[in-house]
Amino acid sequence: QAKETGKNGLCFYTPDINDRLVHYQEITNLLREALTNDGLELAFQPQISLTERKSDSCEALLRCFNGQSRAVSPAVFIPVAEKSGLINRIGEWVIEAACKQLSAWKKTPLSNLRVDINLSGRQLTNPHLASHILETVSRYNLEPHQLGVELTENEVFGSDESQTKQLEKLKQAGVHISIDDFGTGHSSLVYLRKLPVCGIKIDRSFLKHAMQNSADMAIMKAMVTVGHSLGLSVLVEGVETDEQAQLVTDLGCDFAQGFLYAKPMPANKVAEFLASF
Ligand code: C2E
Ligand code: MG
Ligand code: MG
Ligand code: MG
Repeated sequence: QAKETGKNGLCFYTPDINDRLVHYQEITNLLREALTNDGLELAFQPQISLTERKSDSCEALLRCFNGQSRAVSPAVFIPVAEKSGLINRIGEWVIEAACKQLSAWKKTPLSNLRVDINLSGRQLTNPHLASHILETVSRYNLEPHQLGVELTENEVFGSDESQTKQLEKLKQAGVHISIDDFGTGHSSLVYLRKLPVCGIKIDRSFLKHAMQNSADMAIMKAMVTVGHSLGLSVLVEGVETDEQAQLVTDLGCDFAQGFLYAKPMPANKVAEFLASF
């Protein structure tokens, strides 16, 4: 742990470090509490087909509520969960909750919806991850293709053979696999070809800048081309405006996701949204 030594030899934490420690401890406590007291929830954000104007899949995004039912952002608590090791229990909760939801949707008009969960790289180091996921899927009487997993480039590209095996096992069973936040990691395209993936999700930062910046536009175009050349589906994240929707359509992307279509919503709003879409 970083610390500074005072002139009398006492060690003290700088206010900044102290803040971070308190913050870290608070969030860890919150997550432990949430795991045991129903404080976790999945929100669902539809992924929109640009060719058929429909949605066959949703991304499941984890929400964590504190005592005052205020949500804490996963951008804050996921890194803490990864650092503290709680990500394994949380990850299992997510797998279970996604399958439970799919099973609840089974006898409804949403019976064909796929749900994509986010996996953290740390989960992938568990050699039983794939079998655990597939076991959960079958325990809920679901088909593997109803589930998808998303991993960022660095999480997959940095992985060794046994981690790639986990993904291969999932893909062979029919689980949909996509690379999240594509373009932001240090990935080699050669590697992308070797990986068992079905699609890429281009990070929203590229779209955000592509409208003004010709370099970002060129990169987006290249990513779409590479994705398609490798037989992968291409989704663009963070579509917020009509112009952006037009742009991603013109670029030939297959899917889009963003606030323009829908914000992440509770499970009981999904049917209504998709029926009216
Ligand atoms: P992500 O997987 O890239 O998820 C997309 C994020 O972008 C979500 O943020 C979503 O609400 C947000 N988003 C969607 N459309 C738009 C848009 O049009 N504009 C803007 N500005 N944002 C948009 P969220 O829910 O806060 O999640 C943040 C990150 O936390 C996720 O990024 C993912 O990396 C992580 N995360 C969320 N749930 C889980 C989980 O269950 N497990 C793990 N390991 N990570 C998760
Ligand atoms: Mg994601
Ligand atoms: Mg993303
Ligand atoms: Mg992400």
